[in-house]
Amino acid sequence: MRKFHLFFTLVSIAIAGVIHGSVVKAQSSFEIFNPSVNYLFGDYIAFEASIIATEPIQEVTISFRGENQTETRYTTATLDGEFLLNGVYELDQGGSIQAFTKVMFWFDVTFDNGSTRKSPIYNFNYDDNRFDWLTIEDPPFTVHSQHLDRDFAQAVLDTAHFGVSSVQDYIPIQAPLDVDIYVYANSADLQFAMQLTGQTWIAGHSNPELGVALVSLMPGPEQGYEMERQVPHEITHIMIYQAIGDGYTNIPLWFSEGIASIAELYPNPDYRQNLLNAAENDYLIPLVELCTAFPTDAAGAGLAYAEATSFTRYLHQEFGPAGLRNLVDNYATGPGCENGTQAVYESSLTQLERQWLAQIFEESSIMSAFKELLPWFSVFLISISAPLTLILIKWRQPPEEDY
Ligand SMILES: [Zn+2]
Repeated sequence: MRKFHLFFTLVSIAIAGVIHGSVVKAQSSFEIFNPSVNYLFGDYIAFEASIIATEPIQEVTISFRGENQTETRYTTATLDGEFLLNGVYELDQGGSIQAFTKVMFWFDVTFDNGSTRKSPIYNFNYDDNRFDWLTIEDPPFTVHSQHLDRDFAQAVLDTAHFGVSSVQDYIPIQAPLDVDIYVYANSADLQFAMQLTGQTWIAGHSNPELGVALVSLMPGPEQGYEMERQVPHEITHIMIYQAIGDGYTNIPLWFSEGIASIAELYPNPDYRQNLLNAAENDYLIPLVELCTAFPTDAAGAGLAYAEATSFTRYLHQEFGPAGLRNLVDNYATGPGCENGTQAVYESSLTQLERQWLAQIFEESSIMSAFKELLPWFSVFLISISAPLTLILIKWRQPPEEDY
């Protein structure tokens, strides 16, 4: 059947060439059939297709590029028999194409007569197929777990559902449409999937346009807390994207990370201390420096998240859930990081930042005053502990029986 089809196509291309040829000079042309791709994530991509051409072919190259990427790679195809094209590209160190993105590919043909032609563009989903994922589903979520434990995958699914209502407690926003959650057993595997280098502190990631969330949950005592932190966090990014579409890219980073962080079911216990230390020692990062990027080192990133979370919590406390939603909607229209708050809260970002900092410094000074008093407080506690113990012993003694 396939051969039959190929034969007729070949004949029709040839006839088209003849008809054309009678009027103008014949154009070299070709057609691609059944393009297919086989790959191992981060290792190699093998392309295969059938080709039929009107002229003898000198060379075929297969080019490909990750969606939203600028770097195009290519490999020279070999012609196997009369029609079959094969090309394999070995990816070096993962090839810097992220998992769960779309990869576009096409064929460039050079004919013996020197002319060149390009095929249409095809694409495939480049998933992380290094592992046998355990997959369970309960719409809108599908969990793919590297841990082959159904109860564990179910717990992630439950946390995802619970996470949606946690997000909605802070901001009125619709539940997400389809979301795939990939659960890695460690952060190194996740970082390789995202082709992140040098940011070993990254534990979770999301690709909101594709509705894909990635979390890393290592076995151990922290696993439950990490699940409650990472799963709602990554889902929030997807929910915000699905609510406003492409305007998502206009949301300042401090704000999208801030909303995602306050929605975590188990807040990061280090953030508060990080923030107060930075306030006390005067190394807070101005919010305008957190509009489009966060520091890439672990300490800087930790402080950026702590500030984003605290400032967004402050906005929530001052303007409520509707206030947060209005700010998301306004930022989505693109007024810019510094001007976005003016139309919604009638205050500039700098003014709001000043008010928020006043609150932080107040807490920080209460804390440092407490710290200064702590030695005296300890002496006081020790001095009263002996008489207090005596009183307690006396108090806990059963009352004497009354004859
Ligand atoms: Zn985030």
